[in-house]
Amino acid sequence: MYCSDLGEQWHAARIEPTIAHLDSASAGRASRATIDTITAHLWREAERGSYVAADEQAEQLARGRRDLATLIGHLPEELSFRDSARTCLRALLNNWNLPLAATVWVAVNEFGPNLDEFERRGIAVRTMPSADRYGHVDTDALENMLQFEQPDFIHVCQVGSASGVVQPVMDIVEVAHNAGVAVVVDMAQAVGHVPTVTGADIVYGTSRKWLTGPRGVGFLAVRGDAIRPVEVESSEAYVAGGLGLGQAVADLQAFGQQRVYRELAKIGQITRERLDGIGSWEVLEPIDEPSALVTLAPPPGWQASDVATAQVALRETGILVTAAESWRAPLAGDQSLLRISPHLDVQRSQLDDLAAAIRTMGY
Ligand SMILES: *Cc1c(COP(=O)(O)O)cnc(C)c1O
Repeated sequence: MYCSDLGEQWHAARIEPTIAHLDSASAGRASRATIDTITAHLWREAERGSYVAADEQAEQLARGRRDLATLIGHLPEELSFRDSARTCLRALLNNWNLPLAATVWVAVNEFGPNLDEFERRGIAVRTMPSADRYGHVDTDALENMLQFEQPDFIHVCQVGSASGVVQPVMDIVEVAHNAGVAVVVDMAQAVGHVPTVTGADIVYGTSRKWLTGPRGVGFLAVRGDAIRPVEVESSEAYVAGGLGLGQAVADLQAFGQQRVYRELAKIGQITRERLDGIGSWEVLEPIDEPSALVTLAPPPGWQASDVATAQVALRETGILVTAAESWRAPLAGDQSLLRISPHLDVQRSQLDDLAAAIRTMGY
């Protein structure tokens, strides 16, 4: 039995998996339509020549660009494409005319590799205060801080890599803009998962996670004149992948994006309710946090290597999840976690199997 009304339809649109795939936060399962879109273009390239094939698909590519722009609340011409979210952030930081000794404020869920990119460029990082133990940004405290001091920009992971917490990005944008501060949003875990029209100045993300588009396609959207897309875009592009991303966005629209967000939030809640208090594992988000990314802290005394071993053991029983080490969110602590990220086709029995397996692993 599927946890969502959309489960059957979402499942039928894809190849039958050989595992319980609860790992959309690493890479989602592409639909047949997306795979067909990519392969059809690869065939066209070999038949007609790649540049001719790309020209022929100009309208399709433009439609995909428009649809993605709408999904993230930007204009099509503000978009550029790279191979990953990380290369988008690098392109942004390399081309953005920031002052020397720039400062950025981040939330406690900040993605570790992003912090490395800031550090490498001498950008000083400060953590914004949290409103609760889960790490939601305290926007009232932020508003106060901004009256006395303004960073060069605020960078926030709408959803981080090691927590299902959804940051209040719209509120952050509002208080930041009142203080004249630009907001950059890492949407790698958010796009296709939670509402992503936020009003932020600059956003970037990746195709392969919740959108279930192809690997190797990342996007960056820059409002205003901070940098021009032409400075960011690579001269070479994975055109088939770009078309595949367009199809993935079209799939999402066909399901209805608001409905998908609602159902994924419901799945997150069902998953947390099912796993909370199993053995001595602890669910780390509020049960009703509106995301389908669920993290479990291991029983007391477990080391990172124990969590990694648990992930392998689960995979051997046919359940795919992530062992999330602390580098993913170093500001949040040094604990390794199990990350469970089901998509719309998760079944109750899969969560039961996961709960049973975890129960035997810790007490
Ligand atoms: C996966 C992830 C990234 C990096 O995405 P890539 O496409 O692998 O570079 C960045 N931020 C967060 C929060 C992520 O989960």
